[in-house]
Amino acid sequence: MSIREQRPAILGGTPTFPEGPPHWPLTDAEIQQALEASFQTGTWGVYCGPKHEELEHLLQSHFHTQAAYTCASGTLAVEVALRTVGVTAGDEVILAGYEYEPNFLTIHHLGATPVLVDIQQENAVLNIEKMVDSLSPRTKAILATHLHGGLVDMPKLKQIATTHRIPLIEDFCQAVGGQIDGKPCGSFGDLSVLSFGGSKSLSAGRGGGILVSNSEYVQRCKLILNRGVQQWACLSELQAAVLIPQLQKLAQRTRTRWQAVQRLRDLLQNLLGLKMFEYRPHDLPAFYKVGFWFDETQFGLTRSQFLKAARAEGIALSEGFRALHIGRSPKRYRSQHPLTIVEKASDSIVILHHPILLADNPTLQKVAQALERIYDYRDEIQATL
Ligand SMILES: *Cc1c(COP(=O)(O)O)cnc(C)c1O
Repeated sequence: MSIREQRPAILGGTPTFPEGPPHWPLTDAEIQQALEASFQTGTWGVYCGPKHEELEHLLQSHFHTQAAYTCASGTLAVEVALRTVGVTAGDEVILAGYEYEPNFLTIHHLGATPVLVDIQQENAVLNIEKMVDSLSPRTKAILATHLHGGLVDMPKLKQIATTHRIPLIEDFCQAVGGQIDGKPCGSFGDLSVLSFGGSKSLSAGRGGGILVSNSEYVQRCKLILNRGVQQWACLSELQAAVLIPQLQKLAQRTRTRWQAVQRLRDLLQNLLGLKMFEYRPHDLPAFYKVGFWFDETQFGLTRSQFLKAARAEGIALSEGFRALHIGRSPKRYRSQHPLTIVEKASDSIVILHHPILLADNPTLQKVAQALERIYDYRDEIQATL
């Protein structure tokens, strides 16, 4: 009997993946070797070791930027980037209304006002036309974030930012390895930030990086991180050591994940109410999460019922972000337009965590069948939950 013919786990059937979603980070012999080498040479205990320097050099060449600095987290990297372009009290920073909340809060911490812009229906990232209308004499930076596989049209945005002489910061924490028009994500912003957090595709548990593509900011960024004989909030030698082998596998893993996403899209194309984001043919999307629009009416379950049923199957699906403006005082942000699609995204995006994307085809098929059987049994699930 195929998975689809059996009862869903939420109704008492056997979970499709009884052991739960795949573990992350992966068990990787090269990482073990890096850790052992660090132990043997004693470099795990030094302030500034060779791996740290090597990693910054590799990041710079891999992403085609002028400089690369590492630091303690992606969230901190965003703050350093904003400070490097001079964001301070009274300024405005433009970003999408559907965003990583710490980015919004970091802007507040600098005393600046976030200006929230609506997103695109196709892939839930910044709507560039609406962004242009939101510019003001106080605009000090544009923060563009690739999210859930959706990529911002960076060449277009860069052109606009350059015309208006506004610094562009690219948050590619969720798109490391991706490409737009053949160029790596992270190479478009005057400054770009990435994260080495525990769930991210390049992971050291914690950590982040700032890439600088505009010579004007190379020294300033370095100076912000500098405290004389010290740098504050550094990455450790041990973190650098485990990141190097991962960076070397990034291109291949990005392609594997993209193939898995295309495969899932084909497998799920007839499932009503679950629609994957759209991808432009010339891009290579990279995935930290895979974004979908979930339509409750079409599917016949609420989003939370659907997610509960999916998780019971051992599939790592969850809600996307909450709209930044909902439940917040209008004094905490400005917006030029209604945030219509942001509100829709807040209510209806679901995201699939990336580790499953390195699985083989039969496993991906099982994911699709598990979601299909939730659909088949939607009335009974609806009545039960
Ligand atoms: C993960 C992430 C960050 C930063 O994360 P840290 O956990 O602080 O390293 C920033 N922006 C986005 C979009 C992210 O997904």
